[in-house]
Amino acid sequence: MTAPRVAAHSMSDAARACERCGDLLDPKTKVYLELNCYTGIYTDPDKVTVPGNESQGLFWFGRACAKRVLASGGCNIRTPKGGAR
Ligand SMILES: [Zn+2]
Repeated sequence: MTAPRVAAHSMSDAARACERCGDLLDPKTKVYLELNCYTGIYTDPDKVTVPGNESQGLFWFGRACAKRVLASGGCNIRTPKGGAR
């Protein structure tokens, strides 16, 4: 059994940390959303097809965060823990 690494903000770990809250993702519950780089809106790739020339790629989110992003119209309002005063 390997312990998950804690550093979530290095580039090498970015793909495994939630785009919204920065938490490390559980492989069993993480979901990916596609970012349209023209609109800045995230969409569910199972439901929305982003034209290839507009896609910024797929980004991982925790399940709860993905729901919140989609519920807010695809806007990723980042809520880093302990960052804001
Ligand atoms: Zn999250």
